[in-house]
Amino acid sequence: MRKIVGLIGYPLGHSVSPAMHNAAFKELGLDYEYIPFEVEPEDLAQALPGLRALHIAGFNVTIPHKEAVVPLLDDVTKLARTIGAVNTVVNQEGKLIGYNTDGPGFIESLKEDAGFEAAGKRAVVLGAGGAGRAVATMLAEVGAAALFLADLDAGKAAALTEYVDTLSNTKCGWAGLDSLALKTAIEQADLLVNATPLGMHPDVNKSPLPAKVQLPKSILVYDLVYNPAETKLLKTARAAGCRAVSGLGMLVQQGALAFTVFTGEEAPLETMLAAARKALR
Ligand code: NAP
Repeated sequence: MRKIVGLIGYPLGHSVSPAMHNAAFKELGLDYEYIPFEVEPEDLAQALPGLRALHIAGFNVTIPHKEAVVPLLDDVTKLARTIGAVNTVVNQEGKLIGYNTDGPGFIESLKEDAGFEAAGKRAVVLGAGGAGRAVATMLAEVGAAALFLADLDAGKAAALTEYVDTLSNTKCGWAGLDSLALKTAIEQADLLVNATPLGMHPDVNKSPLPAKVQLPKSILVYDLVYNPAETKLLKTARAAGCRAVSGLGMLVQQGALAFTVFTGEEAPLETMLAAARKALR
């Protein structure tokens, strides 16, 4: 019988995940179908028993449910618990098990798309929301030497810094957006990550880069935003002679890891990338 996997979130808008996964199922000849389900926040607790009763094979979880879903699952992996968020759930004989593939997808994209190993490197992450938390946690997990966080909400940056500081030997700090400390941290960093929505379609003229920062040529700038593929931040970085990578790679890598969790098969990465590009057009 055909297996159903899905996506829960609210609002879902135009997600590229169905196109990516359905193209991958087709490529491997797997009898699966990926369906998006809009679930409003107040209905999340009711939706899970419903999905279980329908014998869904698995599902992805997106905004705003990634954290709220954790206590509703039967179990979650150690990494998902550390990150504090789940974006992939598999139904193992009626038990719903949560994974986080966003964090590993980011690290995989750094390696695959930029040949960048984060261990021992100094990183600055702008944005301490859900994605910033996954990125910062993973950078600490893989042994970044130093991590500097900033957010519009200084309290959020401080809280995430305090948390990440407990995870590893990574030296952690945070600062306000207009501070000299942030400017200095960026100018001394090996990696700058945008984990804010700034620059995302339709507000393509926005950039999270603080004023008067001189990007060092050696820095890798990674923008989690993938629509548009070339954000204002990435254009600025390339103009300064820096390497610049779009979040499309992370999107595909987290999807590929989720595909393997759902099916046990290795994901056809090129097919998923092509499907994501087409869906974004
Ligand atoms: P989120 O939970 O809303 O977090 C964004 C954070 O950035 C918020 O704390 C926000 O503060 C802060 N912020 C806004 N403007 C800022 C600025 N100028 N400087 C510093 N911080 C600022 O969103 P999210 O879920 O983490 O997602 C962030 C972005 O990553 C989105 O564009 C999303 O599409 C992208 N993303 C990409 C992937 C991928 O696979 N490539 C995966 C996940 C997310 P306030 O709340 O005070 O505004």
